[in-house]
Amino acid sequence: SSLVDGVSRGAETVTDKVSETLFDPTIRLGVTGLSRAGKTVFITALVAGLMNRNRMVQLEAERDGRIQSAFLQPQPDDTVPRFDFETHLAALTGPNPHWPESTRAVSELRLSLLVRPSGFLSGLKGPRRVHLDIVDYPGEWLLDLALLDKTYAQWSSDALERIQQRPQAAEFLAVSAQSDGGLPHDEPRAQALAATFANYLQTARRDGYSDCTPGRFLLPGDLAGSPVLTFAPLAAGKAPRGSLAREMERRFEAYKTRVVKPFFRDHFARIDRQVVLVDALTAIHNGPPAVEDMRRGLSDILAAFRPGRNAFLTRLLRGKRVEKILFAATKADHLHHHQHRQMADIIQALTNEAQSRAQFSGAETAALSIAALRATTEEMRTHNGADLPCVRGTLLDSGRQAAFYPGALPQDPQHLLAPARQGAQTWLDGEFQAMNFAPAALTLLPGEGPPHVRLDRAIEFLIGDRL
Ligand code: GDP
Repeated sequence: SSLVDGVSRGAETVTDKVSETLFDPTIRLGVTGLSRAGKTVFITALVAGLMNRNRMVQLEAERDGRIQSAFLQPQPDDTVPRFDFETHLAALTGPNPHWPESTRAVSELRLSLLVRPSGFLSGLKGPRRVHLDIVDYPGEWLLDLALLDKTYAQWSSDALERIQQRPQAAEFLAVSAQSDGGLPHDEPRAQALAATFANYLQTARRDGYSDCTPGRFLLPGDLAGSPVLTFAPLAAGKAPRGSLAREMERRFEAYKTRVVKPFFRDHFARIDRQVVLVDALTAIHNGPPAVEDMRRGLSDILAAFRPGRNAFLTRLLRGKRVEKILFAATKADHLHHHQHRQMADIIQALTNEAQSRAQFSGAETAALSIAALRATTEEMRTHNGADLPCVRGTLLDSGRQAAFYPGALPQDPQHLLAPARQGAQTWLDGEFQAMNFAPAALTLLPGEGPPHVRLDRAIEFLIGDRL
């Protein structure tokens, strides 16, 4: 039945494509990043920003007054959950502003824009309609791509090796030490292993680690409790027929074919433009191991955009490619603008390595530090005779107002990345604080700048050439 499914869906897509290309141009924009990177806030602010077109001066079509209107329309994919824009916007802009619920699974939203053409045609032709289909999906799901190349035995040994030293994995390691994969399969034992492993992944993710695959263990959605998510890595050993190890292996393979591949086929393969959001500040705050882990996680995410390295993806894409990729360090409003340059440099350095190797198969890339929604204002404070560039906002836990200096970011990003790569456990030159601010009520005064940081630049890079 899944084959029939695939065929009919394929047919639908084809007719969809024809009508879309014949009439209105469509841009499919993927928004991803690891959990809590800021996807939900980014999409909400992007859509609200385009609908109100308030303070979007870096968006050329808007500056030229060519965007006549922007409105939400029914999305093209009937079986994908709709991105819950109205609820998220109400959370952020209501009388009691709070952060919206984060991304749990894939969702979609169509924003249509009426745009007047530019140049000498502008006087002759009426406005065009351009559809922006925004597809929100967890970055964890992209990391799963690496699983496709691994057997269960390879994945197990990699995963076990990686977590040996991590305190978050203590309970799982204890349970797994008592589990002989060669013994007959026993469902409660499989469940205990899977549950403690999922627990480990959750805690590791909360503590800032990003290499937390299989991605669906973190965000299971309606697969929660199903066999396809009830497996865990086991130490190498005998695996006779009917054994626990044999069943785990079978489920690992099912995860690859029933969960990972369909995501890439149905969603990933259709994206034209992509933004990858990264919460680098939190990783820096959590110390060098978390930064090193972020570097590796990002490079694994980027592997999905260099399909030549993966046979499955190469076959799937058949030459189609993402045209533009933006790497954005989010929550730049946690830093005074004096430090934004350094933040962007860190993201640039993190992605450079991967970029120079394969140029992402021809995609145009950029790195920015942004805040989709500014929760702070800036101020200079003197401390021991020195000027400290601070930000002021409402603290999330106490509700109090505070000015805050997170710490110095190095001028050269390698001063952060190199010690992390070499296995340092703490930063040598002091700590780097992270704060959780509540979203500000929209009360910014004139002169305090727009309600975002460079969101308009991000949009210009991603879709400006198509407007
Ligand atoms: P998701 O898991 O990627 O969907 O992440 P969210 O969009 O839910 O963001 C996670 C959290 O990051 C939010 O609850 C906020 O606390 C914070 N956050 C996201 N974007 C911003 C921003 O632009 N500024 C600030 N100050 N915080 C943000």
